[in-house]
Amino acid sequence: MAKKQFKAESKRLMDLMINSIYTHKEIFLRELISNASDAVDKLCYRSLTDDKVGLSRSDFAIKIELDKDARTITVSDNGIGMTAQELESNLGVIAKSGSLGFKSELDPEKAEGIDIIGQFGVGFYSAFMVSEKVTVISRAYGSQEASKWESSGADGYTISKAEKEGVGTDIIMKIKEDAEGENYSEFLDSFRLRSIIKKYSDFIRYPIIMDGETINSMVPIWQRNRSELTDEDLNLFYREKYFDMDEPVRSILVSAEGLVSYKALLYIPKKAPYNYYTRDYTAGLQLYSNGVMIMENCSELLPECFRFVHGIVDSQDLSLNISREMLQHDRQLKVIATNIEKKIKSELKKLLTDEREKYEEFYKSFGLQLKYGTVGDFGAKKEMLAELLMFHHASAEGLITLDEYKAAMPEDQKYIYYAVGESVSRLAAMPQGEAVRERGYDILYLTDDVDEFVMSILGEYSGKEFKSINAEDTGLSSEEEKKETEQKQEENRGLLDFVKETLGGKISEARLTTKLKSHPVCLSSQGNITLEMEKYFSSIPGNDNKIKAERVLEINGDHASFAALKAAFESDRERAAKYADLLYFQALMLADQPIDDPLKYAQIISELMV
Ligand code: ADP
Repeated sequence: MAKKQFKAESKRLMDLMINSIYTHKEIFLRELISNASDAVDKLCYRSLTDDKVGLSRSDFAIKIELDKDARTITVSDNGIGMTAQELESNLGVIAKSGSLGFKSELDPEKAEGIDIIGQFGVGFYSAFMVSEKVTVISRAYGSQEASKWESSGADGYTISKAEKEGVGTDIIMKIKEDAEGENYSEFLDSFRLRSIIKKYSDFIRYPIIMDGETINSMVPIWQRNRSELTDEDLNLFYREKYFDMDEPVRSILVSAEGLVSYKALLYIPKKAPYNYYTRDYTAGLQLYSNGVMIMENCSELLPECFRFVHGIVDSQDLSLNISREMLQHDRQLKVIATNIEKKIKSELKKLLTDEREKYEEFYKSFGLQLKYGTVGDFGAKKEMLAELLMFHHASAEGLITLDEYKAAMPEDQKYIYYAVGESVSRLAAMPQGEAVRERGYDILYLTDDVDEFVMSILGEYSGKEFKSINAEDTGLSSEEEKKETEQKQEENRGLLDFVKETLGGKISEARLTTKLKSHPVCLSSQGNITLEMEKYFSSIPGNDNKIKAERVLEINGDHASFAALKAAFESDRERAAKYADLLYFQALMLADQPIDDPLKYAQIISELMV
């Protein structure tokens, strides 16, 4: 029998299939089962109008047989089948197959080592990744004859007459012998085959039968109506699929029809997996096309800020053979991604309003993610995320949203005040807070590193500007008060310059303040770098501590300590210098800053005691 050559493009792809190093060999089974399912679809559809088919919906099936000794796997279907002519045109010319979207640019040499399968589905030809020989025996619907197509790879194929009882197709793969570093025998293990079928083809609409047993569950849970499903059904599926002991805080079933039709099943977990905030965590939704899994973690479907969401998207509008590169430009996928983002947002909002406790539990795990999401991407998602954020605050225990803060603002309050520090208890002790609290204004307590960046990227929340209680002008003092303080400052210019000089380069300015009530001093900063930012930057390994805040020592001119300082300045400069040092030490401690010279601090205290 004369051997026929594959068409040029087919040959190149074959070379590539056979010679490259693939990481996803197992998908050959997915591809063959998917073809079988398509073939069954065609005949099943035909049977609706053609009595001669003689089969009803429940007669259709795909069978997988394993012969360990002969090293063969056979995938059989009772679908539409192929004539000799169709075998020739469908399997002899790979360019005809829908899979070859990447066509002629493919150069086997350049492409070597690239994860081709990860990027493209390659249909029937993927059988050659694991087979030394592939035999296709097929009988087309309406034909009495069967034909056999056979090939051992790139050197060509033969077509001959064959015997076959019923209509349909058998694909017989002779599995390659194991070679160094290549284990093919794994596919001769029935357990392994079952798990591959479960993984990729669980939702094929026809039974996939192995040893008389149906392996696939056929109707995917996300294809069902919400009314048919209990919460328990959804939770069980979640726990089994994502190996989570906890129930999700929200299960979302989406059925969209319109521009792009798709179903989605999304889960918002309660707790972050141990590796969530590390590089090891892979985010993304599982992508299905018509019940066939085509991508395990499709990150294009999920915005970075919601990367904690688990789930599945199934759309018949997507091609099975879509590549990662193509995905990024796929318009339908973008539409789905946009809808999914909106859906997750609205579900989180609902959770926040309707089930506060659950939301807070979720927020404990993923609040940090929402904050990173707010500052990420140059703030592209900040408007969407702002109302989902929560912070500790001064007026009560627990967390508060920005809406709640705003709603509780007295009428005369102009700004949303915040303080940045290590812990809530430290922040509650900040001297600057006193004047703010005295007015009946609440203060957001920011304790995460990223918080201050959140404030600066948000800038304002529904018309109210954010203001640090450490800001140069907190907007609390009247013009009159400010003038008064300025005047007093000028009168004490000599003393304030003396303080600055005494402290050397440690501060850039000593000034009188209107911010303080019962406390003598506080430390603030001027310029763009705040004390907290300085702390954050110096905590980054390898950072050489060059990013420094310009420190300002703010002194309460109405405090007895100031009066004592002033008196000493006039009578005893040495003593006044000690007071200046002490005030600075105090300010450092209250601002949660390390004391640079504890020995000096201890000495001054002892000297002043005698
Ligand atoms: P694709 O499925 O992307 O079109 P394939 O290379 O997998 O590409 O298959 C090429 C063609 O061969 C299919 O389009 C189909 O017409 C035919 N074919 C493959 N497998 C079967 C089968 N089991 N039964 C009937 N026809 C099949």
